[in-house]
Amino acid sequence: MTTLFVSDIHLAPDRPDLSAAFLSFLGGPAREASGIYILGDLFDAWLGDDDLAHPAWRPIIQGLRHLSDGGAALHVQHGNRDFLLGEAFARACGARLMPEAELTTIEGETTLLMHGDQLCTEDHAYLAWRKQARDPRWQAQFLALPLDQRRLLAAELRAASSAQKAEKPAEIMDVNAHTVAAALRAAGQVRLIHGHTHRPARHEHSIDGVRCERWVLPAWGPPGGYLESTPGGLWPRPWPSPTDSR
Ligand code: MN
Repeated sequence: MTTLFVSDIHLAPDRPDLSAAFLSFLGGPAREASGIYILGDLFDAWLGDDDLAHPAWRPIIQGLRHLSDGGAALHVQHGNRDFLLGEAFARACGARLMPEAELTTIEGETTLLMHGDQLCTEDHAYLAWRKQARDPRWQAQFLALPLDQRRLLAAELRAASSAQKAEKPAEIMDVNAHTVAAALRAAGQVRLIHGHTHRPARHEHSIDGVRCERWVLPAWGPPGGYLESTPGGLWPRPWPSPTDSR
């Protein structure tokens, strides 16, 4: 039995290719896993749990539900795109919503799990938006709007964010080394797994003389992939092609 880690799948109604690939993951390698961690941005945008009935999400929710019904432990973390995933979504999937940073033990190894956006502390404009978007009052106001209006607002926000992103230097979009070191030190010099930056890698950090691994998950698009944890360690795996589905 293994534990799998994925993030940044960015499912969207106009990307049936991503949904098909994710469904072949759910129906393939995920069926062999005892635990599945989705570390943020499963959805490219989540407008609120009242959008659960959207036809694009139905097979996804069903696929996740099938795994949890089969006994797999399903853990879902918020990303910067789907921070409005709520308890109704979690109930529908049989999943557990994770806190934004979680320390857990995977195959005997203490591991810190994060989406990773909170490590990108050089992006001050993003941090200001993150603070606003995670404010319960802002969320309540947004969720009170009609779904269609939320959809429009989300599209506007996304367009504005990709316009800004085009102007930001690449290093601002990556994690800040000091913030990573602080997080690893606070957690007690552990292993860190996160996504968000779409820069898959295995890094080594020396924190007060202790070597700590930092694994960055790939985004769920070609070449894409996920991490598999076995008693021997973590292994990057390619995403299955839709024909691999069992
Ligand atoms: Mn992200």
